[in-house]
Amino acid sequence: MKAIVIKEPHKIIVTDVEMETLKSNTDVLIQVKSGGICGSDMHGYHGTSPFINYPVVPGHEFSGLVTEVGSEVKKIKVGDHVSVDPVISCGTCYACQTGRYNVCSDLKVRGVHVDGGFKEYVSIPEASCHKINESIPWEVACLVEPFTIASQSLSRGGIRQNDTVYIAGAGPIGLTILLTAKSEGATVIISDISDKKIERAKKLGADYVINTTKTSFEEFFKKNSHLAGFTLAIDAVGHPSIIETILPNMLPTGRVVLLGFLKTPSNLIQMEVTKKELDIKGSRLSCDKFPIVVDRIEKKLFDPKKIISHTFSFTDVEDAIQLLINHPDQCAKIVLTFDA
Ligand code: MN
Repeated sequence: MKAIVIKEPHKIIVTDVEMETLKSNTDVLIQVKSGGICGSDMHGYHGTSPFINYPVVPGHEFSGLVTEVGSEVKKIKVGDHVSVDPVISCGTCYACQTGRYNVCSDLKVRGVHVDGGFKEYVSIPEASCHKINESIPWEVACLVEPFTIASQSLSRGGIRQNDTVYIAGAGPIGLTILLTAKSEGATVIISDISDKKIERAKKLGADYVINTTKTSFEEFFKKNSHLAGFTLAIDAVGHPSIIETILPNMLPTGRVVLLGFLKTPSNLIQMEVTKKELDIKGSRLSCDKFPIVVDRIEKKLFDPKKIISHTFSFTDVEDAIQLLINHPDQCAKIVLTFDA
């Protein structure tokens, strides 16, 4: 069988590897059908992730067909379509004991810390597999994971129907948050520095868009004086400066959710937080969100297909990566297909 392997930074190959077999009697064997390329796969390619031990099989957004099940597998059957939660947690640390396994002290993510799903077959514990109706296209099934990121961040922010949600960043994660927040009935304002990305967000249903290189928040609120400020804001850019621009525009009691992963400090203004009793929370990966997202996709509350900009065969992964590097504006989510 074939697998995508990042041998070392800037060296990604499609190569023959030994056929995957069941790794335990509580595992299921999955014939991988589709996978989404994510920012963390790109960090793996560029050598900018502190967590990766090379060589690594990338891919933490993937779906496939179950072709074999271990003797102790209870709920999943051969022929089921599944989407995989890439989080591996210890089950015993403080976070795991309190039900927050996504921030486990010994957290590992498939495709980052250990081999991921970008190979033709992969053995995965039944507990990490989530059944999805076979009427859902494969390329949608692999996008459950990025939508769990959206669901986690909005649930951390306590999304309500009457919220005015601000999303900084209209990349793939910003777009998953946009579609999810709209499905909750919220009003959504999304910003980016790229007109192309803003146009896409508008098409996907954003109520308001801001190109922050052209329009200040002051101008935006002057023009839209019926909006007094944001009640919930999500930083889907992850730059330390973003929170500095968010805080002054929050309404009292607002909630701010951060997804960034940089070590550079922010110059946030304490008074903005204290005076308005803002809540600032972090959101990482997702916790118990796969069943929720699968259900919403099956009920067609939003259409993940809308965030796909390109589809490549997994054997052309290098072309997909070059497109992301050279034309980032043209790309939203790139999906790889694994049908030989
Ligand atoms: Mn991802």
